[in-house]
Amino acid sequence: MPANKKLLMLPGDGIGPEVMGSALDVLNTVATVEDLQLDITEDVLHGAAWKEYGTFCRPETIARARQSNAILVGAVGGPEWDHIIIDGGPAEQDGLMKLRTELDVFAGLRPAKAWDSLISRTPYRARCVRGANVMVMREMCGGSFFTTHRGIEELPDGGQRGFDLNEYTSPEIERFARASFEVARHRKGKVISVDKSNVLLAGVLWQEVVGRIGSEEFPDIELHHYFADNAVYQLSRNPTAFDVIMGDNLFGDLISDQAGVIAGSLGMLPSASRGAVDESGRRKAMYEPVHGTAPDIAGEDKANPLAMILSYAMCLRYSFDMGEDADMVEKAVATVLDSGLRTGDIMQPGMTQISCQAMGEAVTTELNKLAG
Ligand code: NAD
Repeated sequence: MPANKKLLMLPGDGIGPEVMGSALDVLNTVATVEDLQLDITEDVLHGAAWKEYGTFCRPETIARARQSNAILVGAVGGPEWDHIIIDGGPAEQDGLMKLRTELDVFAGLRPAKAWDSLISRTPYRARCVRGANVMVMREMCGGSFFTTHRGIEELPDGGQRGFDLNEYTSPEIERFARASFEVARHRKGKVISVDKSNVLLAGVLWQEVVGRIGSEEFPDIELHHYFADNAVYQLSRNPTAFDVIMGDNLFGDLISDQAGVIAGSLGMLPSASRGAVDESGRRKAMYEPVHGTAPDIAGEDKANPLAMILSYAMCLRYSFDMGEDADMVEKAVATVLDSGLRTGDIMQPGMTQISCQAMGEAVTTELNKLAG
C-alpha cells in the first residue's frame, strides 16, 4: 500500500481552479482505489495571492511547498496582473517562477504524444505522427530567463541596448544532464541534446558537459547532439523518430511548444518540474499543465481539464512511484477520447461537446471501470 502523501494544490487564476477541480475528482478516485491517504493543502498563488495578500507568492506558500511530496499547480496570470512590476528580479514578478526558483526544480519534463483519436486535429498526416511520443526535457532555473545580467540601456547616440545574458555553469548543466538521462532510462534510452555550439560559446560548454556525463555515467543511453534549429526542423518533419530531447531554458521552451503540436491542443499537454534528491531522500516536484489561464474562456466551464489530469498522472509516476496508476489514468483519458467526448478546444465533427466538469467526470467513470 502506498504511504501517506502530502500534496499542495495551487489552483491559480483564470481556468486554473476549473481544471484543478476536475483533477481533484481523478485524484480522489485513485486515492480510493489504492487506499492512498492524501493530506491535501490548498493555497493561493500569483493573481489569487495578489488579490488576498498583495504579493505573488507568500513565504508561507513556499514553506508549505517545501513540506509537500508534490505540488499541483493550475495556471497563473491574466490581464489584471500582467502589467504589475514589483521590486526584484524576474522571479519576483511571477508567483510560479518564484516557487520554481525557491524549490530549485530545474528539470522540466514536457511530454507530448499523438493521441490516436485526435490525430485529425493535428496538421500532420496520420502516417507521419501516429505513435509519436516525445519527452522534451527543459532546463527550468537558468539561462537568459533568470539572469541578473539584463537590462535596457540608453546609448550615447540616442539608441538603446537590450540584453539578457544566456549563461550556464558546468554544475547546472551536469545536474540537468543527469536528470534527463535518468528519465531516458525509463523510456527508449535515446537522447538528442540541442545547442547552438556552432555560434554560441555557452553551447560549446553545454555540448562538452552533456557528452561527458553521458559517456561517463550513462553509457547505456544513445546520445546525439543536434543544433537547435535542425532539431526543430527534424522534429516537425518526423516526430516519431524522437524519444527524449533535452535543451536549455530557451531552446527547451521553443522545442516543447513545437513538440506539443502532435498532441492536438494546448489543453492536452501536461508537465513536471523536478529538483535534486535532498538529504531526506525527497525530491521536490511541481506538476502543472503547459497552458495558461485562458482568460477568454475562464469561468465558463469550457476548459479542457485533460492537461491537468495528465499532470497528476505524472505526479503518480514520478513522485509517488505509482506507475501502474499513472498508466490507468492515461488509459482512462484515451478511452474517453475514443468514445467521442470532447471539450471545445478538441472538438471534431460528429463528436459530442461537453464541459470541463463533465470531462473530469467522464475520466473518473472510466477510471472506476478500469479499477474494476
Ligand atoms: P493560454 O494558454 O492561456 O491561452 C491560449 C489559447 O489557448 C486561448 O485561446 C485559450 O482559450 C486556449 N486554451 C489554453 N488552455 C486551454 C484549455 N485547457 N482548454 C481549452 N482551451 C485552452 O495563453 P495566453 O492567452 O498567452 O496567456 C493567458 C495568461 O496565462 C497570461 O497571463 C499568461 O501570462 C498566463 N500563462 C500562464 C502559464 C502558466 O501558469 N504556466 C503559461 C502560459 C501563460
